[in-house]
Amino acid sequence: MTVQLRPYQSRAVAETLAYLQRGCRGVAVESPVGSGKTTMGMSVVKTLLDAGKRGAWLAHRVELCDQASERAALYGIPHGRVMPGHEIGPERFHICSVDTLAARLGGICDWLESLDFIFIDEAQHIVASGWNGVVSAAVRAQRVGLSATWFRLDGRGLGEGNHFDRIVQCPGSRDLTAMGYLAPAIVYSPPTDLDMRSVPKLGGDYKLSDMAAEVQRAQLAVIGRRWYARHAPGQPALVFCPTVEMAEASAAAYRAAGWSAQSVDGTMSARERAAAVKGLASGRIQILTSVSLLGEGFDCPEIAVAILERPTESTSLFIQQIGRALRPHPDKSHAVILDLVMNTARHGMYDAPRPWTLEGGLKGLERQVAPTSRCVRCWRVHEKADHCPGCGCGYPKAKKGALDTVWHLPSIAGRRPEVVAAMTLQDAVEIATSRRDMEAIAELKGINDRGWVDRAMQRTGIAGRQAAE
Ligand SMILES: [Zn+2]
Repeated sequence: MTVQLRPYQSRAVAETLAYLQRGCRGVAVESPVGSGKTTMGMSVVKTLLDAGKRGAWLAHRVELCDQASERAALYGIPHGRVMPGHEIGPERFHICSVDTLAARLGGICDWLESLDFIFIDEAQHIVASGWNGVVSAAVRAQRVGLSATWFRLDGRGLGEGNHFDRIVQCPGSRDLTAMGYLAPAIVYSPPTDLDMRSVPKLGGDYKLSDMAAEVQRAQLAVIGRRWYARHAPGQPALVFCPTVEMAEASAAAYRAAGWSAQSVDGTMSARERAAAVKGLASGRIQILTSVSLLGEGFDCPEIAVAILERPTESTSLFIQQIGRALRPHPDKSHAVILDLVMNTARHGMYDAPRPWTLEGGLKGLERQVAPTSRCVRCWRVHEKADHCPGCGCGYPKAKKGALDTVWHLPSIAGRRPEVVAAMTLQDAVEIATSRRDMEAIAELKGINDRGWVDRAMQRTGIAGRQAAE
């Protein structure tokens, strides 16, 4: 059977094949959530198999393997599966759980060495140790990595280990929305009692136990259910929580308000999880709460609401979670995002174009996006403007230097604006790495002198460095 590709998908498939035919090591395909990366990937796989090659598709969740398997079947691609209870078969193409491959690594080296190509789904995980061992053992194989978010919290480059040397980019989330391939979303960030300022970080993100305690204290589900009733009553919703216990408590809080809500976690079988998702699609269940099981690569176009109850410093996690609500569906004109944890203030709009590279060492680069504004009348969050697109109210001109008016500023050289605000001007200038940083510092410090940014750029040598690049 033939699968009809969208024009941008055909282009990405052709570019990927062209790079592979030229013998490149690996192609990193940037494909936003909902752009059809599995479809594009299988189209490339089919061409490679038709040319007589052997290969494998690697994913880290059963659901992702199932999706790939379904898509392969649509293309009429015969394939084996490697996962608990399934062995390598005679087929030239296998869809594999990375964990299973990693666990069997000693016994399957010959097979891995025989592969001509490997596809890596959600390739941002590739530098994780289990993945790296498996991918490195496929010594001859050309790699194709698929991901919506080619950046990691730890700032490590995904070109590390020479897995990838070429990039293919699909249109971004915003462009796909304009083309009608993704549903637009309205983001609200209602006021809550959450205060993350004293929550410590661990490995780049908030330390789970302290973060969970603060979220618990702030009783976010109570606020969430009020806003759910106001903006999307009864619509299929996902709630993202810090821990399994809190996902259960959150589901109970929504049930107490009269909604049909259930929590989903890793102790459930794949079948139970699938049943819960089906219940959401059919309307039997209105709200599913989880930690992250439903966050990545999970496909249910009926979902119209994402409720964020988990603050995170990971831009990738933030985008993946919101992405669940963006599949177009005839029953929804737009998705509603209830951001109860100020993730949008941290990371910018979910659909903002984000810079990234395959090289490491540029931690926080993905956050270099347009700043946002938050309406204090309807609590809508949007890209900075002089009025609210929701209720139409105009914003007063920000008073320079007042911290509470600059919360919308993005991080400055990887540091949060309130941290930079607490620094001396001289220290703040020293950490700046770009004009954007310098402009944000000027705003934080209430510097009205128009020439100051230029002079600071010259004085610190950033202007010269940027001109040389
Ligand atoms: Zn408003």
